[in-house]
Amino acid sequence: MTKITPQPGIMEIALYEAGEARVEGVRDILKLSANENPFGPSPDAKEAIAATIGQVHRYPNTDHGPLRRAIGEIHGLDPERIICGVGSDEIITFLCQAFAGPGDEVLHTEHGFAMYPISARAAGATPVVAKERERVADVDALLAACTERTKLVFLANPNNPTGTMIGGNEMTRLADGLPEGAILVIDAAYAEFVGEYDGGAGLATTRDNVVMTRTFSKLYGLGGLRIGWGYGPKPIIDVLNRIRGPFNLSEMQMAAAEAALRDRSWAERCITENTRLRAWLSHELAALGIPSDTSCANFILARFADRAEAEAVDLHLKSLGVIVRRVAGYGLPQCLRITVGDEAGCKRVVDGIRSFQEGRP
Ligand SMILES: *Cc1c(COP(=O)(O)O)cnc(C)c1O
Repeated sequence: MTKITPQPGIMEIALYEAGEARVEGVRDILKLSANENPFGPSPDAKEAIAATIGQVHRYPNTDHGPLRRAIGEIHGLDPERIICGVGSDEIITFLCQAFAGPGDEVLHTEHGFAMYPISARAAGATPVVAKERERVADVDALLAACTERTKLVFLANPNNPTGTMIGGNEMTRLADGLPEGAILVIDAAYAEFVGEYDGGAGLATTRDNVVMTRTFSKLYGLGGLRIGWGYGPKPIIDVLNRIRGPFNLSEMQMAAAEAALRDRSWAERCITENTRLRAWLSHELAALGIPSDTSCANFILARFADRAEAEAVDLHLKSLGVIVRRVAGYGLPQCLRITVGDEAGCKRVVDGIRSFQEGRP
């Protein structure tokens, strides 16, 4: 018998399944499985990446000062309360590592993002699930699921994969109703797609138990480069900085993120296109008898008759080179999550589903 064993909880982690990117034998692939920006990053970000190439032998800046100041400037936030990470995934990891351990509970919603239970288990803590109401977070259920062992409550708003969100009053009620010693983490990865929404920044400014996480992976089209950030009370950010690797972000990542953030016209155009095409896509699917909740993000959760139909549609789309996301792993086997692509991409999805219904290849 080997004496080499991992920490408790680790073997209970189900390996993360990423959205697919390839189909055997099909060349013209349209990947709509990972909520990526169909237009890619700002040209300014690409230029910034190229400009850092000559310096890759140098270690990067460790305190992320220029990027934090840029985020502070654009979002109207105190840079001293911002921490940057390798995707918002790393901020989620830091939070679990720093605040939850064996015997502690990490609460999330029924169809919450897969990284929450993974990071909770990696820290030795126990993930706890609160039921949703018709695919919308239920604050009463979350509060009822809290115990004196609850250390973290993760809520994506808007949520992935449902696309739904709760309002500011409900979020405030959740923050103020948590047991003492518990932190509310508002995961605002899709905040930019909502319009008139601060992602929870206001709450994270005024409460001592609220942290907001953000990402450059969605609107800013930099998922491949891995950059995210968190904002919250100074004492919590100070704790997270103690476990952050000093060189967790490269100059390339930081320069790209800052350039992407400062190119407001690119960001605004992507938001406008997403809003327009999201409405079009859900309307066209509804006309084909496929309902979806009103999405606040850059994807739609299409609901089919049952699991068999969802899988058949997925296979049909795949044969046409269109890759969407199965979400049975999220407890939604009758659904497919479809990223809002560009106009041609959205049309291809609708045409593909129509041809499925008509029994055409
Ligand atoms: C995509 C996504 C993120 C972003 O993850 P990164 O690590 O920043 O790429 C965070 N939360 C949710 C709910 C997401 O869907």
